[in-house]
Amino acid sequence: MTGVRFPYDPPSLRRVMFDRKTYQKNRYEERKKWLIEMLGGKCNKCNSCNSLEIDHKDPKIKSFNILCMARGMVLEKLVVELKKCQLLCSACHKNKTKIDGSTLYGETCASSKLSLNDVKKIRCDIRSSRAVAKEFGVSHVSILNIKNNKSWRRAE
Ligand SMILES: [Zn+2]
Repeated sequence: MTGVRFPYDPPSLRRVMFDRKTYQKNRYEERKKWLIEMLGGKCNKCNSCNSLEIDHKDPKIKSFNILCMARGMVLEKLVVELKKCQLLCSACHKNKTKIDGSTLYGETCASSKLSLNDVKKIRCDIRSSRAVAKEFGVSHVSILNIKNNKSWRRAE
């Protein structure tokens, strides 16, 4: 970094620092706009152009939150991640997250019988998985999966 001055920052330097912040913020906004354009500029489900969010089609392969990283990551890496994503408006995104939580991670085992609250209780239960399974009326494998985060990963 250049321009470090003592004993105090002259107004001219402060202005440079401020501009740098503005520059970074603008770059983030630019990148976000660019990412949204790359993904087609509208919701993948209802074609809305309002309050768009970037969604990972498969949360299991998500390696980072793309908008959090858009600030500093090199563009090539962003593009790789982008291929795993789609655009959803906030309403469709909420819907999808709801579905992910109850079917994608729950339907493959008996834990779909469970509510989100049950899952939270199971995670905190320190008894053996068999004892917990009996109480909730599911197999002990389901309990193990929940405890090991293999199912209901979104129920955190
Ligand atoms: Zn939508």
